[in-house]
Amino acid sequence: MKMKCTQCGCDDLEEVDFPYEAKLDEVAVGIAGESSFYDMHEEVYTQTYICTKCGHFEFFNPELAKLVLEEREKCAKIQKEIDNFDKQISDKNNEIKNVEQQIDSIKEQLKNIDITIRQSNELKSKQQDLSNKLKALKAGSQELIKQQNNLKRKLEA
Ligand SMILES: [Zn+2]
Repeated sequence: MKMKCTQCGCDDLEEVDFPYEAKLDEVAVGIAGESSFYDMHEEVYTQTYICTKCGHFEFFNPELAKLVLEEREKCAKIQKEIDNFDKQISDKNNEIKNVEQQIDSIKEQLKNIDITIRQSNELKSKQQDLSNKLKALKAGSQELIKQQNNLKRKLEA
């Protein structure tokens, strides 16, 4: 990494202990809102350099930069999984709608006073199957939503 003084552009920087080896707590890190993500350990210190030409101080912390990038990647991955669940939940809901429509259709057919007992029994049996299927689909949908919420909570943590 080539370091440069942001004040005068000189690249002759010397590492110094100034003003002290600051512990990177949430305040020192200075990335409000994001800082709580980083479980900073006491041994992670910022590196301080002084410009030999103008005396300007520069602060670097490659470890923290790495942590920030890792955290970003992790969040992007979780977000992708959440989006994936959106698709699955939407598919499941479409299936649910479809089965509900089939059940409604059967109910309508059962209202017809001209159907035979046999037809009626067949329809009722079909209706029972669809009801079971609907129950399973709804449970599946709930489970997907639950899993998605767990991921959302992870992102908010
Ligand atoms: Zn300088």
